[in-house]
Amino acid sequence: MTFDAVYYEPDSLEYPLGRQLKEQFSGLPWIPVESHNSIKEMQEKPNSEFGHMKRNLIIGTRKTHKYVENHKVSDYLVPFTSSGCTAMCLYCYLVCNYNKCAYLRLFVNREQMMDRLLKRSLKEPGRTYEIGSNSDLVLENTITDNLLYTIPRFAREGNGALTFPTKFKMVDPLLSLDHQGKVIFRMSVNPQPVISRIELGTSSLKERIRAVNRMCEAGYPCGLLIAPVILTDGWKEQYRGLLEELEEGLSVKMKKSMFLEIILMTYSYVHRAINEEAFPMAPDLYDKELMTGRGRGRYCYRPEVRAEAEVFLREEIRRILGSTPILYIS
Ligand code: SF4
Repeated sequence: MTFDAVYYEPDSLEYPLGRQLKEQFSGLPWIPVESHNSIKEMQEKPNSEFGHMKRNLIIGTRKTHKYVENHKVSDYLVPFTSSGCTAMCLYCYLVCNYNKCAYLRLFVNREQMMDRLLKRSLKEPGRTYEIGSNSDLVLENTITDNLLYTIPRFAREGNGALTFPTKFKMVDPLLSLDHQGKVIFRMSVNPQPVISRIELGTSSLKERIRAVNRMCEAGYPCGLLIAPVILTDGWKEQYRGLLEELEEGLSVKMKKSMFLEIILMTYSYVHRAINEEAFPMAPDLYDKELMTGRGRGRYCYRPEVRAEAEVFLREEIRRILGSTPILYIS
C-alpha cells in the first residue's frame, strides 16, 4: 500500500509497533501532530480532497476503550487497533463518525487493548467481541500484522470468540494461524456492479468468495454479510444475480456451515455533501422517493420499501441458497 505522508503522535514511537511502522515507512515525510483526532490541516481541507486525504496514514494511541453492547453476531463492540480505511465506499458508515477525516488511523498500543480484551473475556466467559466495527482489519493487517498478533493470542488466552467483517481478499497470512475456532470471519458481499461503482478500492466479488471459501476450509466459522443492500435501478436483478453467484462460487463446506446477515443501506447528509464534491461522476445514492429521515441527518429506506426488499430477499435466498440461516435483516 502506498501513502503520501504519515501524521503521528510522537509518543507512538515508544511502542514496538510504532517503531516498526517508523522503519516500514521511513521513506515518507513524518509529520508530528498533537492528537490523531484533530489534525487541523486535514479538517480545513475541502470535501473535494476526500480521496487524497485517504492517502495519508495516521498513527497514534487509542485512549478510549469503552465496550458497547451489541445484539447481533457479537455481544460487544470493542474499539480496537484501527479506525478508518483507505478504501472509499460511497456509503461508508465511518464517514458518519469521522466526516471527511475517515482516513486510516493505526493505534499502536495494541498490547494494552489486547490485555483488556483478554481480561474481560475471562471475567465474562462465552461472549463474542466485534473487533472490526471501526475499520477493515484484513486491510489493516497488511500493514501492521495485527491479526497475526491478535488471533493466536486470543485463541490461547481468551474465552469466547472474536469476530470481524471484511471486504478484502488478503487472507493468506490468516489461513495457518492457530485460531481454535474462536474467530468468526464475516465476508461482506454485494453484486459486482455495486462493488465496481460504489465500493471503490475494495476486492471484487469473485476474490471475496474465494477468500471466504479458504477461511472456511482453514476451519474458521464463517458468515456472509449482504451489506449494505442498495436499492438502485435494477436492484432485484442484481441481488438475484449475487445470490446465484454465491450459490455457484461458494464451497460445499461454506454453504453448509455459513449464516447470513442482511443490512439495508443507511445514508446521510454528510455522505451526500462529500460524495458530490469528491466523486462528481459517482451515482447519487440518495433517493427521495424511497428514503426518509432517520434523525441526525441520516436517511434510510421507507418502511414499506424495506418490507418489500425483505420479502424479496428472504424468498430469493430460500429459493437459491436453501435453508441458510438469516440471522437478521436490519
Ligand atoms: S471497506 Fe469498510 S471501512 Fe473501508 S471504506 Fe468501505 S465500508 Fe468503509
